[in-house]
Amino acid sequence: MGVSLAVPYFDLKRQYKLLAPRLEEEILATARSGAYILSSKVAEFEKAFAAYFKVPYAIGVGSGTDALLLSLKSLGIGKGDEVILPSFTFSATAFAVIHAGAIPVFAEVDESSFTLSPEAFKKAITAKTKAVLPVHLYGQAADMTRITSIARKRGLKIVEDTCQSHGASHRGRKAGTFGDAGCFSFYPTKNLGAFGDGGMILTKNKALAEKMIRFRNLGRKDMRESHSCVGFTSRLDALQAAVLNVKLAHLDSFNQNRRRVAKRYLTGLKKTPLILPREAEGNEHVYHLFVVRVPGGRRDALQKHLAARSIGSMIHYPVPVHLQPAVKPYAKRSGDLKFTRKLCSEILSLPIFPEMRAEEADAVSLAINKFYGV
Ligand SMILES: *Cc1c(COP(=O)(O)O)cnc(C)c1O
Repeated sequence: MGVSLAVPYFDLKRQYKLLAPRLEEEILATARSGAYILSSKVAEFEKAFAAYFKVPYAIGVGSGTDALLLSLKSLGIGKGDEVILPSFTFSATAFAVIHAGAIPVFAEVDESSFTLSPEAFKKAITAKTKAVLPVHLYGQAADMTRITSIARKRGLKIVEDTCQSHGASHRGRKAGTFGDAGCFSFYPTKNLGAFGDGGMILTKNKALAEKMIRFRNLGRKDMRESHSCVGFTSRLDALQAAVLNVKLAHLDSFNQNRRRVAKRYLTGLKKTPLILPREAEGNEHVYHLFVVRVPGGRRDALQKHLAARSIGSMIHYPVPVHLQPAVKPYAKRSGDLKFTRKLCSEILSLPIFPEMRAEEADAVSLAINKFYGV
């Protein structure tokens, strides 16, 4: 066995180095162009993004949270409407619902994929339910076959939170293309990351796309139009679009590298009592995160053990969304969510990023094997 290796939780500089010449060329050209807001750079990236997903409309917005909010607003979801979503997600998912003025109804997740349980979703439907907001968590698509079928039968809108799953698929179809709207974040550490904040909405519906285009730009498509709705200032920057357009061409290879790291972990950690991530039948997981469950109340001890060996790790997320102080007052309709609470106490995210080296993954596995004496 070699000397132990420090492994960062994430290292954005490696990707920058890899693509630096192209990125710098694009950034400089955009800066010199003098066109910074909704320029041809944004249109170009929207077109490429829509083509990658084989969907007719892509609308660049300010962030993933805004993609969700603008989708809900454009679908006419607001005051008094209930939206069903998992509590086992990032708080932003729920914030979008609350910002829209709707009521978040939190439902339990599936015990294997940690994505919205179709049964729990079905049970949570009431006369007030207007939409479902499944989250494609950690890089894995939710069970869109069953969620879509239930939603369509009950006349509910579907907004997909795809902020962690750029390029993931379910039965050969990409996450973010099943519902009325597919929402993406380009936060730097996501599978497709900008040099700042950014987001995108996908839709197949032209009328809906027209509404989204106005909501992102203070209620008008361009300067010549009057303001037709009370919109937001939430446009994707031309500079971010330029960066993202360079990176989009590499998304599939980034995701393949993530899968390679995940495979190494799955083999390297086989002997430990950890509950390892599972790829649901028919899914292609893109491992935004590699999250293990640490049984027996030893999560914090394992995290300390790794930190002592300069191995990064994180917890996504330690507190269920429905119990977050900001969300709690809105979560009255939600049940006990026992499994979600249990998960939050057990999960640990190990380092994973496309440029991570095989020996780094092995060093993490080795350190964990040592912790368990296996
Ligand atoms: C990152 C993320 C968001 C929010 O995206 P921002 O671009 O940071 O606003 C929403 N939902 C999930 C599941 C996320 O991971």
